[in-house]
Amino acid sequence: MPTLEIRDLHVAVGDKEILRGVDLTVRSGETHAIMGPNGSGKSTLAYALAGHPKYTITSGTVLLDGEDLLEMKVDERARAGLFLAMQYPVEVPGVSVSNFLRSAITAVRGEAPKLREFAKDLKAGMDALSIDPAFAQRNTNEGFSGGEKKRHEILQLELLKPKIAILDETDSGLDVDALRVVSEGINRFRGLDASGADTGSGVDTGVLLITHYTRILRYVKPDFVHVFAAGRIVEEGGPELAEKLENEGYEAYTKASA
Ligand code: ADP
Ligand code: MG
Ligand code: MG
Repeated sequence: MPTLEIRDLHVAVGDKEILRGVDLTVRSGETHAIMGPNGSGKSTLAYALAGHPKYTITSGTVLLDGEDLLEMKVDERARAGLFLAMQYPVEVPGVSVSNFLRSAITAVRGEAPKLREFAKDLKAGMDALSIDPAFAQRNTNEGFSGGEKKRHEILQLELLKPKIAILDETDSGLDVDALRVVSEGINRFRGLDASGADTGSGVDTGVLLITHYTRILRYVKPDFVHVFAAGRIVEEGGPELAEKLENEGYEAYTKASA
């Protein structure tokens, strides 16, 4: 069973310590929400796990299926089954969405998908996310609206089928309709129907859903909620914790950790 195990992770940018001892275990099939105020280190956790060179691991361990993730190069992490949807996705000029996705699948699987199978999966994924067919020929992320960027992320999820997916602020900048489409995409990927019931068809992926706002959690029900403040997890609970945050905000946590 795929498991991501983060133990006492400390991360610095330059000489500034940002993560100050994060402990978190994500098992396949589980959805964890990481919530917290701006600047609490949520994206830093995502970047550190993805192997971004700016983020220095100063101590701690991260295991993916028992293997040392921190020893792996960025492409090895993707091959090992880790997927990161960025808060600010980069433009890839001159590379169409279709080619970008086919290259990504090739990188993860170690071999190119058959063209016919890829075209079929791509069409099914785009249909499910209400994406216009012409989208596949556009340059990756170039001039994408907020909604298009996020749909593209979920399309990547559906095609790559990672073991662990980290979604950083996938809900930011979405209007209500786009939020619903994106949330339904995540739920379909988790093997849940619109009512949250198990359809038995999902991939057993562990999802780490990083968000500042509670609204996406109305559609994507987390199994666990973790509150981040000043670089560590300061409270943990079930979905009811998200409701408490919705009502009370982060003030109690930012005061306590200041
Ligand atoms: P969140 O995603 O919770 O809003 P971040 O992880 O983006 O928080 O940021 C946490 C802290 O680390 C902030 O004080 C931020 O300024 C700092 N930080 C994050 N990334 C960098 C970076 N690349 N360079 C300098 N400071 C950074
Ligand atoms: Mg520590
Ligand atoms: Mg962030």
